[in-house]
Amino acid sequence: MVKMDCLFCKIVDGTIPASVVKQNNKVTAFNDISPQAPTHILVIPNQHFKNMGEVSESDPDLAGEILKMASQIAKEYGLDSWRININTGESAGQSVFHAHIHLLGGRVFAWPPG
Ligand code: 5GP
Ligand code: ZN
Repeated sequence: MVKMDCLFCKIVDGTIPASVVKQNNKVTAFNDISPQAPTHILVIPNQHFKNMGEVSESDPDLAGEILKMASQIAKEYGLDSWRININTGESAGQSVFHAHIHLLGGRVFAWPPG
């Protein structure tokens, strides 16, 4: 289902342009507009959910499809190390309330995260 006022729903349906890396009938991956690493790709469900917790609870297979696409892209990009980041809620840094995971690669990452 498309949420009319949602930025990422509009990217999925093509109303707002994005640099799409990979897409199937359930999942879309596109380059982040403000990359925090040489590779910074957002992988999202085509259907609107407010965060990844909601996806995992209501459709665990879909959560798996999202992770699967991220891993496929990491392999296709030749990344030997990468980080998947899921910000859930404002205090954790979530700013777009359509579920997404960040696939980051191409540099060294610190631990713990900030
Ligand atoms: P969050 O902060 O919610 O975890 O991640 C949202 C991400 O969406 C941010 O990294 C931000 O740069 C990215 N973003 C925000 N608006 C747009 C946009 O219009 N296009 C693309 N490609 N990415 C966006
Ligand atoms: Zn949405």
